[in-house]
Amino acid sequence: MSLFVNALQQLRDAASEMKLSQEVVDILSAPQKIVSVSFPVRMDDDTNKVFSGYRVQYNDARGPFKGGLRFHPNVDLDEVQALAFWMAIKCAVVGIPYGGGKGGVTVDPSKLSRSELERLSRGFIRAIKNDIGAMKDIPAPDMNTNGEIMAWMLDEYEHAIGKHEPGVLTGKPLALGGSLGREAATGQGGAYVLEFLSERENLTPSETTIAVQGFGNVGLHAARIMDEMGYKVCAVSDSKGGVYNPEGLDIPAVMVHKKATGSMKGFPNTTEVTNEALLELPVTVLVPSALENQITRDNADRIQAKYIIELANGPTTKEADEILFKKGITAVPDVLANAGGVTVSYFEWVQNLAGYYWAEEEVGKRLKDIMKTAFDATYEKKKSLNKDMRTAAFVVALERLAESIKARM
Ligand code: NAD
Repeated sequence: MSLFVNALQQLRDAASEMKLSQEVVDILSAPQKIVSVSFPVRMDDDTNKVFSGYRVQYNDARGPFKGGLRFHPNVDLDEVQALAFWMAIKCAVVGIPYGGGKGGVTVDPSKLSRSELERLSRGFIRAIKNDIGAMKDIPAPDMNTNGEIMAWMLDEYEHAIGKHEPGVLTGKPLALGGSLGREAATGQGGAYVLEFLSERENLTPSETTIAVQGFGNVGLHAARIMDEMGYKVCAVSDSKGGVYNPEGLDIPAVMVHKKATGSMKGFPNTTEVTNEALLELPVTVLVPSALENQITRDNADRIQAKYIIELANGPTTKEADEILFKKGITAVPDVLANAGGVTVSYFEWVQNLAGYYWAEEEVGKRLKDIMKTAFDATYEKKKSLNKDMRTAAFVVALERLAESIKARM
């Protein structure tokens, strides 16, 4: 399934719902610029290996391009274009002054040593340095990239341009101008979404069971915070599989177990579940936080959760969306649910531009305000359109994008 075809279908569905002008649909049906690079990296055995990378700059009508960099073997232009398009929608849903972009390198980082990973990170940023900038295009972490990698990239970039420019990248360590609260921001934003959904749908935390697929930056913090809020997180998984206890898991203990053993497996009083089986567990809320294309026409009918909070990007295919909607399942779409990450990236950039840094409470409060405004706008739009929340979020975003695009014409 082409991710970009899926993304463009979502655009067309929302566009026809709101009668968006064909001019705007055409503009949003292709990225403004595709940067495609190949670059050599010196390996530890002194040979050179050539890697391919991409930066897709989808649309910048609302502000500089913004979006993460992914290191993964499945990275290709189709995937990066879809992710870049969703960033444009996401930034508009939460009303932050950015366009959409995304990038990545086709690589399995688990096969690289730490110094090879550093040379790859520096090599990629050298290859795209003329296309990024604090007022142009601002990358951030995504799958298999983190604060340490952002630090190497920032150092390389600042050496290349001969001056400081911390706002060129977000998700940096605090020591290089990162923001308090950035690391947990996507999971935290997802937890706020669960809180708002619970208020609207009368869910009691202690009676609300949750399954989280993925236990990386996003899934781990989401599971941890939802557990702290009193929800019953019953299943978690990573690429090696997952564990399930219908009575709820002790998430801090699962984190210790995973750190010690490298996996969830063998965690006391649980049954093992595969990633496929986790999606079909009898829980109230499913939280996909790993890869795209997880809920498809093949398994959508077997989903038992009443709600889905998409913290991964693109976890649900178009056909699956239709099946879920018919089954009465409410899915809070990725472009809203996982926008906490880019929102705190925006705060980080604002702090970099001002050279003035905020307390963690201020970051948390401002994040909650933005997520609440975006959630309420989407929920109200869903009710007025009598449509699913994805279409509603797209309509909210496309209204704002269209306004900026037209104002420039
Ligand atoms: P990460 O690399 O930190 O973690 C990924 C997790 O997914 C790991 O636990 C890994 O073991 C697991 N995983 C990999 N393959 C799997 C499989 N087949 N089945 C189940 N689990 C699997 O990445 P992340 O930053 O947590 O990103 C996860 C998702 O969230 C991605 O779709 C990413 O685009 C999206 N996202 C991330 C951010 C962010 O701020 N990091 C923001 C918005 C959206």
